[in-house]
Amino acid sequence: MSQRLVRVRFAPSPTGPLHMGGVRTALYNYLFAKQHGGTFVLRVEDTDQTRFVKGAEEYIINALKWCGIAPDEGQGFGGDFGPYRQSERKPLYRQFADQLVESGHAYYAFDTAEDLERVRDLAKKAGTANWQYNHVTRGSMKNSLSMPKAEVDKKIANGDPYVIRIKLPRNEEVKLNDLVRGWVSVNTNNMDDKVLFKSDGMPTYHLANIVDDYHMKISHVIRGEEWLPSAPLHVLLYRYLGWEDAMPQFAHLPLLLKPDGNGKLSKRDGDRLGFPVFPLEWHNSENGEVFSGYRENGYFPEAFVNMLAFLGWNPGTEQELFALDELIEAFRLERVNKAGARYDHDKTRWFNQQYLRAKSNEDLAPLLKAAAQEEGLKADEPYCAQVAGLMKERAFFVKDMLSEGRYLFEKPKDFDEKTLRKKWNAEARGHVSNLKTIFENLDSFTASALEAAFKEYLQQQEVGFGKVGPGFRLAVTGKGMGPSMFEICALLGKEETLNRLETALAELPQ
Ligand code: GLU
Repeated sequence: MSQRLVRVRFAPSPTGPLHMGGVRTALYNYLFAKQHGGTFVLRVEDTDQTRFVKGAEEYIINALKWCGIAPDEGQGFGGDFGPYRQSERKPLYRQFADQLVESGHAYYAFDTAEDLERVRDLAKKAGTANWQYNHVTRGSMKNSLSMPKAEVDKKIANGDPYVIRIKLPRNEEVKLNDLVRGWVSVNTNNMDDKVLFKSDGMPTYHLANIVDDYHMKISHVIRGEEWLPSAPLHVLLYRYLGWEDAMPQFAHLPLLLKPDGNGKLSKRDGDRLGFPVFPLEWHNSENGEVFSGYRENGYFPEAFVNMLAFLGWNPGTEQELFALDELIEAFRLERVNKAGARYDHDKTRWFNQQYLRAKSNEDLAPLLKAAAQEEGLKADEPYCAQVAGLMKERAFFVKDMLSEGRYLFEKPKDFDEKTLRKKWNAEARGHVSNLKTIFENLDSFTASALEAAFKEYLQQQEVGFGKVGPGFRLAVTGKGMGPSMFEICALLGKEETLNRLETALAELPQ
């Protein structure tokens, strides 16, 4: 078989913000396309106008861009297979629904919503919980298979509303070879005659999806597991439309599970359990709803993407840190797990910490400067680079460097209670006062000069570090712990350090 050009698509419905499960689907599509020198397409599936949410499409595009996995082609990105919004492709679909009716693979159905509700209710009372429109029941419903042709023609001529349903054969095994799950086989007896075309003149997802994948020359359909039950129907549609040779290969990705492994990670879980579920913060302009985002919580997109890649896939080695180009190299659909992937927030934080540590102080400086500015604190980039050098080992996020090292930007406003209680006494005060005098006389205020002077003082006084260090740190930083005091004082400079020691001596309890 000749090698097909790889063209994959991410096909979200603009019914809200993009959940991180959706971002993972987009990521796997992106990685697969790039690995094969293929094309990654974004198609907006907006055939269900009742579920349309304003701003969702823009959100999806921005989220993909933030993650660094922008599509090559598609809605918002241009290309030769457009339009890429299904609502704008409306004129294309009807002819294929008609073609299926003509070839005997689909039929008109006139049942109203009330008709359907009535039969479902009756079935429930008779003990059938899941009534289906299928080869058994369709004979007793109002459709072009059960009604005389003249009556059908009259109804259509009258403009009576109808839908077009697929006519599934009885007792036929439909098989497909899924790249993640292997052979999947479903009997048509367990499927229903799904609606392909709605009374509002729009196709349903099933028809539009197949028509578009065919016309956009999609080679692989990589999507969430929730679509696996629909895949046999899609296989039949390719067959009935005469497109079997062009049928894409399928890969259904495992579900994302809640941290405890119990059930699918839902959009409300995040804010309930204390982590974001969405890449970017989402504001619903219609109902005022707000959901938090990874970006706004201080995550680096590279860390978020690296974490997502591992939710359902692993390279089979110990390596966990992968830049995007390394992911492109290493990713294999065959190594995607079948079992659901459990989200682990500590692991996500760990990924961010690793990326933070790997960044140079100079790269962190502008981010830290911006974070400081947001809180009304001023510092230039070279200074912020030095702060980053001191603080990054202890931080998970840029904002941690600021909250942990706020005293590097302004005088401490309060003093750690416990250290004050346990370490601040007349003796400590005496040492701080002595250190102040010693430091006043230092010409060079470098970390090494400060350290030498401090050590000399300990020797001279014959005291251990524990008697002097904590009080000294408390006086300068207000804290009980932190990085090297000599580095801190050198960074603050002589004037500021002496000033803080003086203030502490004046303000801390006698
Ligand atoms: N519009 C579908 C969704 O929102 C796409 C499913 C598919 O990729 O076929 O998930």
